[in-house]
Amino acid sequence: MHAADLAADLVAAWEQGCGRTPVGRGESLLGALGIDAARRWDLSVGQRDTLLMDLRARLFGTGVTALAACPACREQLEVTFDLDDVRTHPPGDPTDPVEVVQDGYTVYARPPTAGDLVALDVALPWPDACEQLLERCVLGARLAGRQVPVAELPDVVRDRLETRLAEADPQADVQVVLTCPDCGRTWSALFDVVSFLWEELDVWARSLVVEVHDLASVYGWSEADILGMSPYRRSLYLDQVRR
Ligand SMILES: [Zn+2]
Repeated sequence: MHAADLAADLVAAWEQGCGRTPVGRGESLLGALGIDAARRWDLSVGQRDTLLMDLRARLFGTGVTALAACPACREQLEVTFDLDDVRTHPPGDPTDPVEVVQDGYTVYARPPTAGDLVALDVALPWPDACEQLLERCVLGARLAGRQVPVAELPDVVRDRLETRLAEADPQADVQVVLTCPDCGRTWSALFDVVSFLWEELDVWARSLVVEVHDLASVYGWSEADILGMSPYRRSLYLDQVRR
């Protein structure tokens, strides 16, 4: 896709995503990338995040700077890393089911998809939401030849299952290890590419709207004409307008 077309599609996706949940925003961004609507919800969370990391690299590069608060002393620290350092390679197709055999139980399950996340009841407390997610992802569980409901799976089986599902779709859970320079506490924090990229896009889109306003006011060009320009050409005209 041409960079100029991408700009117009991203502004449209940003406008659509403003009133949506984070999962919905991820879906809007996949739409801007030309991912078929039916396929967007079927991507595993890791597959979705890989596409959004590619988009982020294309728009703003691979360097990431973020702020994190130390859980011990609350000191704010600046975190920098490269997107390429948190990329993983799934051992197979992350949407394929895995089989877990533990303590006599045999469980088939697949890693969560973007569609599973959007189907979750946002009003539920976190443990209940996790249970609902597990219900969606478990395709079948048996003990001694008998079907077992997810609610009856013991913790040891659940833990093993969660580990296997995380291994099957490693990009879904990017943990960055941090150390506080003040108190020395070390912890790991989730890097959520959807929220991170959305915040950057929000700033980018709002500044692009101002650029369109400045150019349209002076030259009378349409929004489509202005968004259709390369960023470089747009900046040349803006230099004339804002000098
Ligand atoms: Zn600290």
